[in-house]
Amino acid sequence: MKRQVHSKEVKTAALQRLTERGVTIEDIAEVVYLMQAPYNVGLKMSSCVESVHAVLEKREIQHAILVGTELDILAEKKMLTEPLQSIVESDEGLFGCDETLALGSVFGYGSIAVTTFGHLDKHKIGIIKRLDTKRGSGIHTFLDDLVASIAASASSRMAHRLRDEEEAERERQLSDQQNSEQAG
Ligand code: MG
Repeated sequence: MKRQVHSKEVKTAALQRLTERGVTIEDIAEVVYLMQAPYNVGLKMSSCVESVHAVLEKREIQHAILVGTELDILAEKKMLTEPLQSIVESDEGLFGCDETLALGSVFGYGSIAVTTFGHLDKHKIGIIKRLDTKRGSGIHTFLDDLVASIAASASSRMAHRLRDEEEAERERQLSDQQNSEQAG
């Protein structure tokens, strides 16, 4: 009989894999902070950490992490067949499957996530840059895009939440005003 994998097992494996590959939640939260700070006065690092955790709860991203990092690891062990081995090993610029895999899991967070992912892919900020330049210590062809994807989704999630909070605050103020006008 085929084994049905429990979602807890997938989540644990994905989180463990990120750690093993040298990426912490705080590293990703730092990217989120840098992306959101210009639009969010008083933004707290703890909110960014919370948002990264929320994104990592999604099965789409957990699966993408497992697939992408597996290919990075197999490439390090020279276990892929040619020509894929050379393409992944050299992080061939026109390959694109690394971006496509990572991009697939941002759609659930809307257009801000998509454009932020594009920005991070181009400008490589924080840990994404470190992964890209630390090539001597391992192959991160898929990992850098996966991190960009998590950070982009977490940023978009925060942007939407901020708007919700602002609107809720405005509605509160309006109703307070109306109540005091009626009372007066
Ligand atoms: Mg890449």
